[in-house]
Amino acid sequence: MKITRQQFLKYFSLGLASTTVIKKPSWPAGKMADARQEIKKMKIKKIEISTFDVPLTSPFRIAIGTMHAANDVLVKITTDSGLYGIGEACPFPPITGETQASNIAAARAIRELLKDKDPLAIEGLIEQIGNIVHSNPSTVAAYDMALYDLLGKAAGLPLYKLLGGYRSSFETDMTTGLNTPEKMVESVKDSLALGYRQIKIKVGEDPDLDVRRVQMVREAIGPDIPLRIDANQGWSVPQAIFALRRMEPFKVQFAEQPVLASDISGLKAVREQSPVPIMADESLFLPSDSIKLIKEEACAYFNIKLMKAGGLLNSLKIAHIAAAANIQCMVGCMIETRLALTAAAHLVASQKNIIFADLDGNSEHQLDPVIGGMKVEKGTIYLPEAPGLGCDVDPAFLKKMQAV
Ligand SMILES: [Mg+2]
Repeated sequence: MKITRQQFLKYFSLGLASTTVIKKPSWPAGKMADARQEIKKMKIKKIEISTFDVPLTSPFRIAIGTMHAANDVLVKITTDSGLYGIGEACPFPPITGETQASNIAAARAIRELLKDKDPLAIEGLIEQIGNIVHSNPSTVAAYDMALYDLLGKAAGLPLYKLLGGYRSSFETDMTTGLNTPEKMVESVKDSLALGYRQIKIKVGEDPDLDVRRVQMVREAIGPDIPLRIDANQGWSVPQAIFALRRMEPFKVQFAEQPVLASDISGLKAVREQSPVPIMADESLFLPSDSIKLIKEEACAYFNIKLMKAGGLLNSLKIAHIAAAANIQCMVGCMIETRLALTAAAHLVASQKNIIFADLDGNSEHQLDPVIGGMKVEKGTIYLPEAPGLGCDVDPAFLKKMQAV
C-alpha cells in the first residue's frame, strides 16, 4: 500500500503507528524512515490565539481574592506537516498578576517570533518566549504545552511516557474554598460523596476561625482522610505559628503558603516552629526559586504549577532540583479546564517525587470544553494513552470564542 506523507502524519498523530495497534506496518520500511525524516524537518506554520472562557457555578474565594470565571486563552500551533498542538493559559490575577488581556497581548507579541521555527526545539523556544513575556507565565505555559503536545504527537507517545513514565494513574484531592465553617463542611462532604479520598481546604483569614474550620472538617471526615490546608499568604508569621500549633490535634498533612510569598525567612521561621509540615506555593514560581527555598531550608514540600513556572519544561526542572534535594512535590492548578489539567496530569504521572496532586481546577466549571484527556473517577486521575496531551477542544465550543 502506498501512502502519502499527509496520510502518514495523520495516522502517526492518531497513534496508529504504535506497535500495539498495527502489528505489521502496511507501508515499506523506507517510507516510514522518509516520514520520520519529514517530522524531523517540521516547521511552525500557523499560530491561532483565542479567548477560552468558562463560567463558574459559584465564585471561588481564597485569602487573596475571588474568581468568578475562568477567562483563559487558547493557543494552537500548526506545523507544515499538518500536526498541531494546543495549550491553555489560565491567568489567576491575585497569584501571578496576569489577566486574560495581558496574556493575549503577550501571546500576540511572540506569535511572529515562532513562525518557521522547529517546534521540537523546545528548550530554545521557551527560553526565547520567556525572555520576552516572563511577566505572563501563563502565556509561556500555553505555548510550552502546545509544543509538548506536538512533541508527543511527533513521537507517537502519550506525553507522560516521554517525560518519565513513572505511573499512569494517581489520586487527586478536592479543594473547598473559603466560606463559613458550616458551609465548608457541607462542601467537603459533597467531595467525599463523589469518591474523593484526599481533602484540601482554604484558610488564611482569621486564625481562630481557621482553627475552627480545620477542627469541624476533621470531625466531619473522620481520622483517616488526608486533610491539607492552604492559607494563600493570608497569615503573619506569629499568626501562622499560633494557628498551626493549635491545629496539631487535627492531623493536618501539610499547610501551603502560610505567609507572604516574598517572605522566605518568615516561611522558614514558621517551618521551624510549626508541628504541621510547610509547603511553598506562591514563593515558588521558577527553578531559581526552588534553589532559594532549598538553600534557606524554608519548606518541606513544593507546590509546582504550570501557570507559575511557565509550563512543563520549567516544572520538570523544579521537580528534578527537588528530587536531588530529597524534596517531594505536589502539582497544583489554578481554575483551568481539562486541557491544562491534562498537561499537569502528564507531569504528575511522569515523576517519582511528585507524590501529591491538586488537579481539581475545573470542579466549579459550568461546562467542559475538552474532548478526550484525563479521566477522573472517584478522585483517581487516569492518563490518556493517545499521543501528546491526548485531548482536543470541542469545535462547537471554540466557534463561540473570539479569535485574536
Ligand atoms: Mg496553594
